[in-house]
Amino acid sequence: MAEANNTPYPYEAPVSQGLFDRAAVVTPGGVNSPVRAFRAVGGTPRFMVSGTGPYLTDADGREYVDLVCSWGPMILGHSHPEVIAAVQEAVTRGTSFGTPGAGEVELAEAIVERIAPVEQVRLVSSGTEATMSAIRLARGFTGRAKVIKFAGCYHGHVDALLAAAGSGVATFALPDTPGVTGAQAVDTIVLPYNDLEAVREAFAAHPGEIACVITEASPGNMGVVPPLDGFNAGLKAVCQENGALYISDEVMTGFRTSKAGWFGIDGVVPDLMTFGKVMGGGFPAAAFGGRADIMAHLAPAGPVYQAGTLSGNPVATAAGVAQLRLLDDAAYAKVDAVSEQLRALVTEAFGKEGVAHRVQNASNMFSVFFTDDEVRDYEGAKAQESFRFTAFFHSMLEQGVYLPPSAFESWFVSTAHDERAVERIAAALPAAARAAAEATA
Ligand code: PLP
Repeated sequence: MAEANNTPYPYEAPVSQGLFDRAAVVTPGGVNSPVRAFRAVGGTPRFMVSGTGPYLTDADGREYVDLVCSWGPMILGHSHPEVIAAVQEAVTRGTSFGTPGAGEVELAEAIVERIAPVEQVRLVSSGTEATMSAIRLARGFTGRAKVIKFAGCYHGHVDALLAAAGSGVATFALPDTPGVTGAQAVDTIVLPYNDLEAVREAFAAHPGEIACVITEASPGNMGVVPPLDGFNAGLKAVCQENGALYISDEVMTGFRTSKAGWFGIDGVVPDLMTFGKVMGGGFPAAAFGGRADIMAHLAPAGPVYQAGTLSGNPVATAAGVAQLRLLDDAAYAKVDAVSEQLRALVTEAFGKEGVAHRVQNASNMFSVFFTDDEVRDYEGAKAQESFRFTAFFHSMLEQGVYLPPSAFESWFVSTAHDERAVERIAAALPAAARAAAEATA
């Protein structure tokens, strides 16, 4: 098992493997979210037991520099003392009341204060719930059925939004998901990302039928593929001309790409927005919000039903409030600087090995595509030589750097990624870039 390329995981993780074997008996595929199973890259998924700052430690006792950050939420690194303290304080008062509580008011106020287009917000427990509810509200508000989404954009596992989704759906190249019926998908129109003309044509073909356009504010689920200049503004304008709502999904970008998320960067004002990840401080908390006149259609203020036993959970909201409070301008400057440093190091390593690559970023989110061409849409993302990623991933893992186990995901950094962590990544990159260069399809 020593040659790197075609046997790209020559080292062992016996304790993780034992847990994975046990998990596979009681859980489909051994995991509770598909990409975690390492199927795109092969090998043993690492079962993590603890996280501190930029590091994760697995069940075999190996430490990794974490470039996943729980797929975005851990923007302050793992076990940030102030977040942990807020959670400990909250948990001593009880874990769930099923009543309104002060924490959810504080979290809602923190969101409204930071994101100007959000006049009112409803808290939920996952990004999936947020986008599902936003779509229902858009349909209820407009009295229309159809939804436009873009190929390669992932909005959670909402039935109507799984068509041509990114993230795990891209990783496994699933054309369709069994279990989503024709009736659930028939009102979904899937268009190529960054193609405004296609959006105009769809509106022309379905006059008065389209409730909303939902888009990732800046996509990170087919790798990082930012909107071209004017794309989001164009979407907003087309929606406005046609009486449809513009929904910006900021589950990934919200409170990460800037204090006000991607809205803070492009300034395009959505009708509705969705959030998750960072706002929950590592707990299940998410939200959707926007124009007050639209949100007023939501129960109990209005007729569109939406609810949740654990919505606004006191422990989750305490974590979220603590994390948002710590995310000041200096924190974003730090995350942006680390991201820039790593992008330069990655570019240098692949450049030295002559590997065709593109490092694309949206603020501090970034990913590598194994291609010479700029990637502007899902077709472009799929055209990369993703087999190189497998070799690269395993070399990095073996050297103690934990990357997303798929070529179609963003990498995430945190304020805790200090010089030592960056040096460890820098030290791992040359061999990993060589492994990518030598990989064969
Ligand atoms: N929307 C976007 C843009 C996401 O990236 C994700 C998850 O990765 C979701 C929605 C779904 O969020 P969750 O996994 O919390 O359901």
